[in-house]
Amino acid sequence: MRLNKNFFYTFREDVKSEDSTSGKLLVRSGMIKKTGNGLYSYHPLGYRIIRKIEGIVREEMDRAGATELIMPSLLPEDYYIKTERLDVFGKGIFRLKDRFNRGYLLGPTHEELFAVSAKEAIQSYKDLPFNLYQIGRKYRDEPRPRYGLIRIREFIMKDAYSFDVDLAGLDVAYMKMFNAYKIIFDRIGLNYKIVTADTGAMGGILSEEFQAIADIGEDTIVLCDSCSYASNIEVSACVDDDIEKEEELEKEEIYTPNAGTIEEVTALMGLPSSKFVKTLIYKSGDNLYACMVRADRDVNETKVVKLLGVTELEMAEAEDVIAATNAKVGYAGPVGLKIPVVIDSEVLKMSNFIVGANKSDYHFKNVNVKDFEYFKSGDIKNIKEGDRCPICSGHVFFKKGIEIGNTFKLGDKYAKSLDVLYKDANNQLIPVQMGSYGIGIERIMTSVVEQNNDKDGIIWPMNIAPFQVALVLIDGSNKEQSDLAEKIYAEFNKNKIEVIFDDRDERPGIKFKDMDLIGIPIKITVGKKADKSIVELNSRDGKISEEVSFDNLTETVQKIIEERLT
Ligand SMILES: [Zn+2]
Repeated sequence: MRLNKNFFYTFREDVKSEDSTSGKLLVRSGMIKKTGNGLYSYHPLGYRIIRKIEGIVREEMDRAGATELIMPSLLPEDYYIKTERLDVFGKGIFRLKDRFNRGYLLGPTHEELFAVSAKEAIQSYKDLPFNLYQIGRKYRDEPRPRYGLIRIREFIMKDAYSFDVDLAGLDVAYMKMFNAYKIIFDRIGLNYKIVTADTGAMGGILSEEFQAIADIGEDTIVLCDSCSYASNIEVSACVDDDIEKEEELEKEEIYTPNAGTIEEVTALMGLPSSKFVKTLIYKSGDNLYACMVRADRDVNETKVVKLLGVTELEMAEAEDVIAATNAKVGYAGPVGLKIPVVIDSEVLKMSNFIVGANKSDYHFKNVNVKDFEYFKSGDIKNIKEGDRCPICSGHVFFKKGIEIGNTFKLGDKYAKSLDVLYKDANNQLIPVQMGSYGIGIERIMTSVVEQNNDKDGIIWPMNIAPFQVALVLIDGSNKEQSDLAEKIYAEFNKNKIEVIFDDRDERPGIKFKDMDLIGIPIKITVGKKADKSIVELNSRDGKISEEVSFDNLTETVQKIIEERLT
């Protein structure tokens, strides 16, 4: 690709409208352009990266035995009504009507459509197993799109679905995808962790996530300092602190004016937050629940959802809290409360703790579990850094992660609701076991930039770089330089070396800055020594800097590319 008289631009200045390093660098380098809230156009260099990532994903999916096809993104809503997922996704999907008032949605994920397609080929157990995938567009109505390409409303996803006769077959299919994912992320050179996670909107038996380590990651990954434990905080089991029972005292109302937060009430009473229990009011549909955790803990909403067996949960509005407690916000407590109380397992071990009194400006002290009724108890808290590891005697610490892939064992949930059945050897109709496997293409691109950049710009790894080589012509008006650069350009193209040729009429400084910003792995500079057929060769990562004569150039470059592709 020649840059002179072509579609190419960069920005010198910081991009204020982006809130992440990767977002800023991708916009500044002209690779992507924001076209709306959570919507981006992928310009030529950016799209080359997307296609390279897709290429690696496609190679490994094919190698793992999956077969590619393509589904529409505009989906009739009937299938999603059958699996009750319109409710599960709620406001998170784009829904629309056609001219005949029939309901559609823009596909957020395609389990339903793949299941009904798979059905066409399934009669008996002999027709199984198989695995289908597509690389296509997905839509989610994110309330707060952010971090460049991390949380967007239209995105490219590889989604694969496996179909098996039984759970043993599903295990085999799952491991094939799981291993293919490791190969994909290893080939791209990402620093990532594999964690157990919540099955969320997919439902099913097991979910694991592939998380690229990055500070802007929205997921908290829990890791152990002495074993290989790795989990999304959503599902990370907590080991309760050891708490010694004290002799139970009589509960006592105390006046705590203007102390509606834990900070205020602990300061007022001069006691550590571990002596307090906070009571938070949540709403699920029309029902309110009070959740109790020790005051230095946070409620884990995913765990509460599971414990209650509900599909959604959000913090109650102030007016609901006031109605439920007859007090201003900040004074909720379990004693005499009329809504169901869900209590954390750790609180059950506490004695003589302090809670809100459901009366403005008052708390109760010396409260014990016998003083109120509760509806359910269980582990409903987030694990904290320094807590004991759930599986060994080590301690946990956190990292932030960007979810780049996920794998689900769905079981027969979708097969049952959509009648995807096969006949076994005894002619019995049995539902098919499904797995679902996603990879976010843009999230890979973004994660690579988050992990590979410096003050000058992006440093692409060779296998997904938009071009392998940047060819910089210092002085286009100098015939020797210009002839040599043209000769190299032709030679590289002939040898299938991917080269971007900066033949613009610009100052050398601008050309160097631009090539560093867009992060091409190898830079060839044609300058003063062109008369001796000598050029400079530099690598973007600073590891190579040497002069090479034209005669050895193609071979030298091919060798570097080859080394870096493996
Ligand atoms: Zn451990």
